[in-house]
Amino acid sequence: MIFKEDISPELAKELFEDSEKVLKFIAEIKWNDSFVCRKCGHTNFCEGKSPSSRRCTRCKTEESATAHTLFHNCKFPINKAFYIAYQVCVEGKDISSYEYSDQLGLNQMTCWKFRKRIKNCVIKNGADTKSVTIQKILLTDF
Ligand SMILES: [Zn+2]
Repeated sequence: MIFKEDISPELAKELFEDSEKVLKFIAEIKWNDSFVCRKCGHTNFCEGKSPSSRRCTRCKTEESATAHTLFHNCKFPINKAFYIAYQVCVEGKDISSYEYSDQLGLNQMTCWKFRKRIKNCVIKNGADTKSVTIQKILLTDF
């Protein structure tokens, strides 16, 4: 899968429906071809145990695709989290936490907290939502 600066509506739809594709997508943006082990700085890796994770070939530390991203320790399905992140980042698509709750079958407070997390991330990037891409959000270190 090749990602572009902006995600096409078709790709976004595909990702909303498939958690493993979301993980793969996050991994591609996060590491691309430049894996660096956070523990020892080694750059060679092999596949880890969980989907789209990477494992350092020197110290054997495994890092998940979501580690140190905004999806870190996300307690609900990653495809739903990705959906919220996408909606918040794309102009005119953001809705209320009540509406996310209805659409995704999630607790309203869960949606509220996650939406707030993304909003904070947007602020951290020093931009309003109009110029923040999902890629920038994914590359923000958490
Ligand atoms: Zn290492």
